[in-house]
Amino acid sequence: MKNIVIFGAPGSGKGTYSAKMVERYGLGHISTGDVLRGEIKNETELGKIAKSYIDKGQLIPDSLIIDIMAAKLDSLQGQKGVIYDGFPRTIAQADAFKAMLAERGMKIDAMIELVVGEDVLMERLLRRAQIEGRADDNEDTIKARFAVYHNETEPLSKWFEAEGVRQQFVWPGDIDQMLAGIYEAMDKLFA
Ligand code: AMP
Repeated sequence: MKNIVIFGAPGSGKGTYSAKMVERYGLGHISTGDVLRGEIKNETELGKIAKSYIDKGQLIPDSLIIDIMAAKLDSLQGQKGVIYDGFPRTIAQADAFKAMLAERGMKIDAMIELVVGEDVLMERLLRRAQIEGRADDNEDTIKARFAVYHNETEPLSKWFEAEGVRQQFVWPGDIDQMLAGIYEAMDKLFA
């Protein structure tokens, strides 16, 4: 099973490109953001804790996220590949993820980084706010999420580079061109 991390700032298109890759290559997909929003919707204990962080644009504590992922990982086994969307987001999460995979005889096979300028990101997120009505897509929370991304998540890019799995894709201003680059990398991975 190939383990593929999709990585990028809020609004970089992780969900959109994941969906395309799932369809084209027949992969499993897990988005920690979607898992947490599901918990909030179902009003679980975890959902209550998650909401207090998400509404402020902050990250859920590492230990909580790591426990959630450890529980999910076994349910994802048996697929040709899985895309991890929104996880890992900190170095601690990445170290724990690497160990979790190693325990199961696996590794991170690829990291796809979506590189998009902040002006484009802000515009997209504000548009998404109007369409999807996500509670954390308002200007103040978006700014907080960008700050968290720069401080806590972006340094991880180098971690993946050191692991030898990072592939960066710079937004060319056109979704089809962006997809073509990603598909080329994925075709090689599954060749
Ligand atoms: P996303 O849908 O990936 O943008 O995630 C929405 C929010 O969920 C984030 O702003 C965080 O508050 C929380 N979240 C999602 N994934 C993680 C993670 N791996 N670690 C900590 N918090 C997370």
